[in-house]
Amino acid sequence: MKTPGHFIKCVICGKTKEEFGNNAMPVAKGLCCDSCNREVLLARLDAVFNAEIFG
Ligand SMILES: [Zn+2]
Repeated sequence: MKTPGHFIKCVICGKTKEEFGNNAMPVAKGLCCDSCNREVLLARLDAVFNAEIFG
């Protein structure tokens, strides 16, 4: 999502972007950009599927 006037520095790719930002946990600590957030969401899915409850 593009948020005019609001900049974040992505902790994953290191780029400064004009976005609201996303919580980068569990991949990294801080805010990440929308494109890196895809990786973060996949990592969260992995964590869910690897949880004991599904094992
Ligand atoms: Zn990024």
